[in-house]
Amino acid sequence: MPPKIPESHPRYRSLVTREKLVQACEEGLVAWEGLLAHGRGETFDYLLGERSVPEALHAEKAASAHLLMAEKAAISVNGNVAVLAAERIRRLLEATGAVVEVNLFHRTEERVRRIADLLTSTGIRNVLGTHPDAAIPGLEHDRALCSKEGIFGADVVLIPLEDGDRAEALARMGKVVISVDLNPLSRTSREATIAIVDEVSRALDNMVEFAEELKGRPEAIRGAMVGYEKGRNLAGVLKRIWENLETSQQ
Ligand code: ATP
Ligand code: MG
Repeated sequence: MPPKIPESHPRYRSLVTREKLVQACEEGLVAWEGLLAHGRGETFDYLLGERSVPEALHAEKAASAHLLMAEKAAISVNGNVAVLAAERIRRLLEATGAVVEVNLFHRTEERVRRIADLLTSTGIRNVLGTHPDAAIPGLEHDRALCSKEGIFGADVVLIPLEDGDRAEALARMGKVVISVDLNPLSRTSREATIAIVDEVSRALDNMVEFAEELKGRPEAIRGAMVGYEKGRNLAGVLKRIWENLETSQQ
Protein backbone atom coordinates (compact mmCIF):
# COMPACT_ATOMS: atom_id res chain seq x y z
CA MET A 1 0.00 0.00 0.00
CA PRO A 2 1.34 3.47 -0.85
CA PRO A 3 1.82 5.83 2.13
CA LYS A 4 -1.27 7.95 2.81
CA ILE A 5 -0.80 11.55 1.79
CA PRO A 6 -2.03 14.03 4.43
CA GLU A 7 -4.81 16.29 3.09
CA SER A 8 -3.15 19.26 4.76
CA HIS A 9 -0.12 18.97 2.48
CA PRO A 10 0.08 22.11 0.31
CA ARG A 11 0.69 19.96 -2.78
CA TYR A 12 -1.99 17.43 -1.84
CA ARG A 13 -3.75 17.29 -5.21
CA SER A 14 -0.54 17.02 -7.15
CA LEU A 15 0.76 14.26 -4.86
CA VAL A 16 -2.47 12.29 -5.10
CA THR A 17 -2.36 12.51 -8.90
CA ARG A 18 1.23 11.26 -8.94
CA GLU A 19 0.30 8.40 -6.65
CA LYS A 20 -2.59 7.48 -8.93
CA LEU A 21 -0.29 7.38 -11.97
CA VAL A 22 2.40 5.36 -10.18
CA GLN A 23 -0.22 2.83 -9.13
CA ALA A 24 -1.61 2.73 -12.68
CA CYS A 25 1.93 1.96 -13.90
CA GLU A 26 2.22 -0.91 -11.49
CA GLU A 27 -1.13 -2.22 -12.72
CA GLY A 28 0.02 -1.97 -16.33
CA LEU A 29 -2.43 0.78 -17.37
CA VAL A 30 0.19 3.51 -17.84
CA ALA A 31 3.60 3.11 -19.45
CA TRP A 32 6.60 4.13 -17.31
CA GLU A 33 7.31 6.75 -19.95
CA GLY A 34 3.91 8.21 -19.03
CA LEU A 35 5.35 9.28 -15.68
CA LEU A 36 8.06 11.28 -17.43
CA ALA A 37 5.45 12.91 -19.64
CA HIS A 38 3.45 13.83 -16.54
CA GLY A 39 6.48 15.42 -14.91
CA ARG A 40 7.09 17.53 -17.96
CA GLY A 41 3.44 18.58 -17.90
CA GLU A 42 3.62 19.56 -14.21
CA THR A 43 6.52 21.89 -14.93
CA PHE A 44 4.55 23.84 -17.49
CA ASP A 45 1.47 23.83 -15.28
CA TYR A 46 3.54 25.54 -12.57
CA LEU A 47 4.71 28.13 -15.04
CA LEU A 48 1.11 28.84 -16.03
CA GLY A 49 -0.16 29.12 -12.45
CA GLU A 50 -1.99 25.74 -12.41
CA ARG A 51 -5.17 27.20 -13.88
CA SER A 52 -6.88 27.45 -17.25
CA VAL A 53 -5.46 30.68 -18.65
CA PRO A 54 -7.73 32.81 -20.93
CA GLU A 55 -5.91 31.54 -24.04
CA ALA A 56 -6.69 27.96 -22.99
CA LEU A 57 -10.39 28.78 -22.56
CA HIS A 58 -10.40 30.43 -25.96
CA ALA A 59 -8.85 27.36 -27.62
CA GLU A 60 -11.16 25.02 -25.71
CA LYS A 61 -14.22 26.86 -26.96
CA ALA A 62 -12.97 26.66 -30.56
CA ALA A 63 -12.19 22.97 -30.06
CA SER A 64 -15.70 22.22 -28.78
CA ALA A 65 -17.14 24.07 -31.77
CA HIS A 66 -15.09 21.89 -34.15
CA LEU A 67 -16.14 18.71 -32.36
CA LEU A 68 -19.81 19.73 -32.68
CA MET A 69 -19.45 20.62 -36.38
CA ALA A 70 -17.46 17.52 -37.35
CA GLU A 71 -18.79 14.97 -39.80
CA LYS A 72 -17.10 12.47 -37.58
CA ALA A 73 -15.04 13.34 -34.51
CA ALA A 74 -12.74 10.94 -32.67
CA ILE A 75 -11.04 11.28 -29.31
CA SER A 76 -7.75 9.44 -28.86
CA VAL A 77 -7.09 8.13 -25.36
CA ASN A 78 -3.85 6.80 -23.87
CA GLY A 79 -3.05 5.49 -20.39
CA ASN A 80 -2.41 8.87 -18.73
CA VAL A 81 -5.62 10.35 -20.12
CA ALA A 82 -7.71 7.34 -19.10
CA VAL A 83 -6.37 7.35 -15.55
CA LEU A 84 -6.67 11.11 -15.10
CA ALA A 85 -9.95 11.74 -16.88
CA ALA A 86 -11.98 8.67 -17.97
CA GLU A 87 -15.24 10.07 -16.62
CA ARG A 88 -14.67 13.41 -18.33
CA ILE A 89 -14.06 11.63 -21.63
CA ARG A 90 -17.48 9.99 -21.25
CA ARG A 91 -19.11 13.38 -20.65
CA LEU A 92 -17.40 14.92 -23.67
CA LEU A 93 -18.51 12.02 -25.89
CA GLU A 94 -22.09 12.56 -24.72
CA ALA A 95 -21.89 16.31 -25.27
CA THR A 96 -20.42 16.13 -28.78
CA GLY A 97 -21.34 12.77 -30.33
CA ALA A 98 -17.65 11.92 -30.89
CA VAL A 99 -16.29 8.36 -30.73
CA VAL A 100 -13.39 7.24 -28.56
CA GLU A 101 -10.38 5.16 -29.56
CA VAL A 102 -7.58 3.80 -27.40
CA ASN A 103 -4.37 4.69 -29.20
CA LEU A 104 -0.99 4.13 -27.61
CA PHE A 105 2.50 5.30 -28.41
CA HIS A 106 3.92 2.38 -26.41
CA ARG A 107 1.35 -0.11 -27.66
CA THR A 108 0.85 -3.48 -26.04
CA GLU A 109 -2.37 -5.42 -26.58
CA GLU A 110 -2.68 -5.96 -22.83
CA ARG A 111 -2.49 -2.23 -22.06
CA VAL A 112 -4.97 -1.38 -24.83
CA ARG A 113 -7.41 -3.88 -23.34
CA ARG A 114 -7.00 -2.56 -19.80
CA ILE A 115 -7.55 1.03 -20.86
CA ALA A 116 -10.58 0.01 -22.93
CA ASP A 117 -11.96 -1.80 -19.85
CA LEU A 118 -11.44 1.31 -17.70
CA LEU A 119 -13.32 3.46 -20.23
CA THR A 120 -16.10 0.89 -20.52
CA SER A 121 -16.47 0.85 -16.72
CA THR A 122 -17.52 4.53 -16.84
CA GLY A 123 -20.46 3.64 -19.07
CA ILE A 124 -18.93 4.32 -22.51
CA ARG A 125 -20.45 1.76 -24.85
CA ASN A 126 -18.31 1.56 -27.96
CA VAL A 127 -14.59 1.81 -27.19
CA LEU A 128 -12.51 1.49 -30.37
CA GLY A 129 -8.84 0.61 -30.71
CA THR A 130 -8.70 -3.03 -29.66
CA HIS A 131 -8.95 -4.26 -33.29
CA PRO A 132 -7.14 -1.73 -35.49
CA ASP A 133 -7.92 -2.07 -39.20
CA ALA A 134 -6.07 0.92 -40.69
CA ALA A 135 -2.71 2.68 -40.59
CA ILE A 136 -1.79 6.36 -40.47
CA PRO A 137 0.47 6.98 -43.49
CA GLY A 138 4.07 7.95 -42.76
CA LEU A 139 4.43 6.28 -39.36
CA GLU A 140 6.20 3.03 -38.58
CA HIS A 141 4.14 -0.08 -37.93
CA ASP A 142 2.78 -0.10 -34.35
CA ARG A 143 2.53 3.65 -34.02
CA ALA A 144 0.44 3.88 -37.17
CA LEU A 145 -2.28 1.44 -36.10
CA CYS A 146 -5.80 2.83 -35.78
CA SER A 147 -9.46 2.17 -36.63
CA LYS A 148 -11.35 3.20 -39.76
CA GLU A 149 -14.42 3.80 -37.62
CA GLY A 150 -12.42 6.06 -35.29
CA ILE A 151 -9.26 8.10 -35.79
CA PHE A 152 -8.57 7.02 -39.39
CA GLY A 153 -11.98 8.03 -40.74
CA ALA A 154 -12.51 11.13 -38.60
CA ASP A 155 -12.31 14.67 -39.97
CA VAL A 156 -11.70 16.09 -36.48
CA VAL A 157 -9.44 14.36 -33.92
CA LEU A 158 -8.82 15.32 -30.31
CA ILE A 159 -5.40 14.08 -29.19
CA PRO A 160 -4.64 14.81 -25.54
CA LEU A 161 -1.00 14.17 -24.50
CA GLU A 162 0.01 12.97 -27.95
CA ASP A 163 3.43 12.60 -29.48
CA GLY A 164 4.53 15.23 -31.99
CA ASP A 165 5.16 12.82 -34.84
CA ARG A 166 1.70 11.39 -34.74
CA ALA A 167 0.14 14.84 -34.45
CA GLU A 168 2.03 15.82 -37.59
CA ALA A 169 1.00 12.66 -39.48
CA LEU A 170 -2.67 13.25 -38.61
CA ALA A 171 -2.46 16.87 -39.71
CA ARG A 172 -0.90 15.71 -43.01
CA MET A 173 -3.98 13.56 -43.60
CA GLY A 174 -5.96 16.80 -43.71
CA LYS A 175 -7.71 16.39 -40.37
CA VAL A 176 -8.49 19.14 -37.90
CA VAL A 177 -6.11 18.17 -35.10
CA ILE A 178 -6.90 19.38 -31.58
CA SER A 179 -4.09 18.83 -29.07
CA VAL A 180 -4.13 19.14 -25.28
CA ASP A 181 -0.56 19.62 -24.12
CA LEU A 182 0.77 21.82 -21.32
CA ASN A 183 3.94 22.47 -23.27
CA PRO A 184 3.29 25.33 -25.72
CA LEU A 185 6.67 24.64 -27.34
CA SER A 186 6.13 20.94 -28.01
CA ARG A 187 6.00 19.63 -31.55
CA THR A 188 2.49 18.45 -30.76
CA SER A 189 1.33 22.01 -30.00
CA ARG A 190 3.13 23.29 -33.08
CA GLU A 191 1.64 20.68 -35.44
CA ALA A 192 -1.95 20.90 -34.17
CA THR A 193 -4.67 22.94 -35.83
CA ILE A 194 -5.94 23.94 -32.39
CA ALA A 195 -3.42 23.72 -29.55
CA ILE A 196 -4.97 23.69 -26.09
CA VAL A 197 -2.32 24.49 -23.48
CA ASP A 198 -4.02 23.29 -20.32
CA GLU A 199 -4.03 20.37 -17.90
CA VAL A 200 -6.09 17.56 -19.42
CA SER A 201 -8.75 17.26 -16.67
CA ARG A 202 -9.38 20.99 -16.63
CA ALA A 203 -9.38 21.13 -20.43
CA LEU A 204 -11.99 18.38 -20.72
CA ASP A 205 -14.21 19.94 -18.03
CA ASN A 206 -14.14 23.25 -19.89
CA MET A 207 -14.77 21.59 -23.25
CA VAL A 208 -17.85 19.78 -21.92
CA GLU A 209 -19.22 23.10 -20.67
CA PHE A 210 -18.52 24.87 -23.95
CA ALA A 211 -20.06 22.04 -25.99
CA GLU A 212 -23.23 22.21 -23.91
CA GLU A 213 -23.37 25.98 -24.24
CA LEU A 214 -22.79 25.95 -28.03
CA LYS A 215 -24.96 22.98 -29.02
CA GLY A 216 -27.74 23.94 -31.44
CA ARG A 217 -26.38 27.51 -31.90
CA PRO A 218 -24.73 27.54 -35.37
CA GLU A 219 -23.91 31.26 -35.24
CA ALA A 220 -22.13 30.93 -31.89
CA ILE A 221 -20.32 27.82 -33.16
CA ARG A 222 -19.07 29.64 -36.23
CA GLY A 223 -18.00 32.59 -34.07
CA ALA A 224 -15.97 30.31 -31.80
CA MET A 225 -14.29 28.68 -34.81
CA VAL A 226 -13.28 31.86 -36.62
CA GLY A 227 -12.38 33.71 -33.43
CA TYR A 228 -9.41 31.42 -32.76
CA GLU A 229 -6.01 31.97 -34.28
CA LYS A 230 -3.35 29.48 -33.25
CA GLY A 231 -0.21 31.56 -33.66
CA ARG A 232 -1.65 34.44 -31.71
CA ASN A 233 -3.03 32.13 -29.04
CA LEU A 234 0.30 30.32 -28.45
CA ALA A 235 2.16 33.64 -28.42
CA GLY A 236 -0.26 34.77 -25.69
CA VAL A 237 0.50 31.66 -23.63
CA LEU A 238 4.25 32.21 -23.92
CA LYS A 239 3.85 35.83 -22.92
CA ARG A 240 1.94 34.75 -19.84
CA ILE A 241 4.76 32.36 -18.83
CA TRP A 242 7.26 35.13 -19.37
CA GLU A 243 5.24 37.54 -17.22
CA ASN A 244 4.81 34.94 -14.47
CA LEU A 245 8.58 34.45 -14.37
CA GLU A 246 9.17 38.19 -14.23
CA THR A 247 6.72 38.84 -11.40
CA SER A 248 8.05 35.90 -9.35
CA GLN A 249 11.49 37.49 -9.49
CA GLN A 250 10.33 40.55 -7.54
P1 ATP B 1 7.05 16.69 -28.74
O1 ATP B 1 5.58 16.95 -28.79
O2 ATP B 1 7.83 17.97 -28.75
O3 ATP B 1 7.44 15.68 -29.77
P2 ATP B 1 7.00 14.64 -26.79
O4 ATP B 1 5.68 14.25 -27.37
O5 ATP B 1 8.14 13.75 -26.95
O6 ATP B 1 7.36 16.07 -27.31
P3 ATP B 1 6.22 13.92 -24.21
O7 ATP B 1 6.79 14.36 -22.91
O8 ATP B 1 6.27 12.50 -24.58
O9 ATP B 1 6.82 14.89 -25.27
O10 ATP B 1 4.70 14.34 -24.37
C1 ATP B 1 3.88 14.50 -23.34
C2 ATP B 1 3.34 15.91 -23.34
O11 ATP B 1 2.16 15.87 -22.58
C3 ATP B 1 4.30 16.89 -22.67
O12 ATP B 1 4.53 17.97 -23.50
C4 ATP B 1 3.56 17.35 -21.41
O13 ATP B 1 3.67 18.73 -21.23
C5 ATP B 1 2.13 16.97 -21.71
N1 ATP B 1 1.38 16.55 -20.51
C6 ATP B 1 1.70 15.61 -19.60
N2 ATP B 1 0.75 15.48 -18.67
C7 ATP B 1 -0.21 16.36 -18.99
C8 ATP B 1 -1.48 16.69 -18.43
N3 ATP B 1 -1.93 16.10 -17.32
N4 ATP B 1 -2.22 17.63 -19.05
C9 ATP B 1 -1.77 18.23 -20.18
N5 ATP B 1 -0.60 17.96 -20.77
C10 ATP B 1 0.18 17.04 -20.19
MG1 MG C 1 4.36 15.95 -27.48
